Amino acid sequence: MSGHAQKVDLAPGLYFLATPIGNARDITLRVLDILASAEVLAAEDTRRLRQLMDIHGVSLAGRHIVPYHDHNGPAARPKLLDALAAGKSVAYASDAGSPIVADPGHVLAREAIAAGYPVYAAPGPVAAVAALTVAGLPSDRFTFAGFPPQAKGARTRFLDDLKDIVGTLILYESPNRVAETLGLAAGIFGGDRPAVLARELTKKFEEVRRGTLDELQESCLADPPRGEIVLLIGKGSHEVSPELVEAALVEAMTRLRLKDAAREVAERFSVSRRDLYQRGLELQGES
Ligand code: SAM
Repeated sequence: MSGHAQKVDLAPGLYFLATPIGNARDITLRVLDILASAEVLAAEDTRRLRQLMDIHGVSLAGRHIVPYHDHNGPAARPKLLDALAAGKSVAYASDAGSPIVADPGHVLAREAIAAGYPVYAAPGPVAAVAALTVAGLPSDRFTFAGFPPQAKGARTRFLDDLKDIVGTLILYESPNRVAETLGLAAGIFGGDRPAVLARELTKKFEEVRRGTLDELQESCLADPPRGEIVLLIGKGSHEVSPELVEAALVEAMTRLRLKDAAREVAERFSVSRRDLYQRGLELQGES
């Protein structure tokens, strides 16, 4: 076998494989080993998986790839579950990124688990996490909400349901709707909320736009973004109560020097380090 893949002895079970979200080299050696070794291969898009295997020199070695996607789940699942019942290793890859994350795989996992078969993850790229990594928004708490519904009314209700969530909100959105979604979000969360649009990550036209919801909407109207998009909405300042911040500062000061305590709490809540330092001095004076 050429390339980096090694044939390995795989325990029977269902393996969910993460695949690249753009750059074909964002694949783990373990995923390549599993692709080379699984007795049964299944994919959301069989051609795409074959291409990926070709790129990395993994041969099919006589195996077929079973199609398993949103439209054939009920018909295709029994085949995969039968293979698991026969003690085989079954590997599944979705189109891109991690299966199950805004992609097929959940029902298959659920049924495999219910039937008592082992389920394994071969983790790797997830667009939501790649976007969070480059966004520069708080990452101590984040909520992945997937794709908002297409219909405008349902999308508004969907965003409204998310308005009390604390932390960074991560959405997947189509380029055709992103400007409108930013406008709806501005109406619900406030136009001055920090937001980030990350598109085509790991690909040739990778781009990250940062601003407020209002600014990003304007930017998308003036220069419509193309390709695959992750939208991130940062914390609103009203989400963090001063009491909560002060309690965190008091606690951090029991462990750290004031300078470091102020830095830690400022990063955690995205508030001013200087203000915290001043408040810390006052608290020290009071005690
Ligand atoms: N399973 C994938 C994952 O782990 O992220 C997500 C699949 S979902 C059907 C496809 C959506 O993910 C795209 O519409 C876009 O919102 C996001 N996405 C996928 N690849 C991306 C990339 N390279 N850059 C930005 N967003 C991406």
